[in-house]
Amino acid sequence: MQLLYEGKAKKLLSSPEPGMVVVQFKDSVTAGNAAKKAEISGKGALASAISIKLLEVVSAKGVPTHFVKKMDERSFLARQVEIIPLEIVVRNWAAGSIVKRLGLERGKIFEPPLVEFFYKSDSLGDPLIGESHIQALGLATPEEVERIKQLASKANSVLKEYFLAKHLKLIDLKFEFGRARKNHKEILLADEISPDTMRLWDDQTNESLDKDVFREDKGDLLTAYRAVAQRMGLI
Ligand code: 5GP
Repeated sequence: MQLLYEGKAKKLLSSPEPGMVVVQFKDSVTAGNAAKKAEISGKGALASAISIKLLEVVSAKGVPTHFVKKMDERSFLARQVEIIPLEIVVRNWAAGSIVKRLGLERGKIFEPPLVEFFYKSDSLGDPLIGESHIQALGLATPEEVERIKQLASKANSVLKEYFLAKHLKLIDLKFEFGRARKNHKEILLADEISPDTMRLWDDQTNESLDKDVFREDKGDLLTAYRAVAQRMGLI
């Protein structure tokens, strides 16, 4: 399989099946636009298993995704998409960048959940943008933005409920969407959904079970990701 693209946490490989790609998770973990990096053996397999399950969970509730089938312990087959260069962050409670940016209290509830757009650009540090910026930069059409907001809100509410049943609070998460290669009008939820891209807190102790463990040196990342996988019944 040919390497099509290598990111910080994943590789994209070609697939013999037309219109498909293989998403392969690496054992690398990075934070702060790769200012902080580590290799954690077993992390890729955990992020892959969790992502596959969560993509299946949202898909079963009507959110179309790029996921097709599991390939091996750290990769899955996906429909090829043209990634829209936006990171869509949905927040149920305040944490992370919004706390600093707006001077909010950590843990403040957002009802309804807050949807934010960030321009996906490593060189610019993924700046927060609004819908007019998306139009001005020609990143997505107004119809696509509406569809993305609808799908992101739906996926968030499905996952929030899913995790609550596992005694985890879904604080926030980041989605990426793409246009299907075969039908450009079709918007698919792409990328991954894992503790690398979300904040999950234990509903009793508010202990972080996500990448904040690494970002903020709060303990062992693998232990946290294993705890999530265990609560999801994956291990
Ligand atoms: P924040 O804006 O507070 O830094 O992030 C909000 C949520 O989106 C968090 O769950 C965070 O993990 C996720 N997120 C935002 N930007 C990125 C990114 O560039 N990479 C990854 N893996 N997650 C991100």
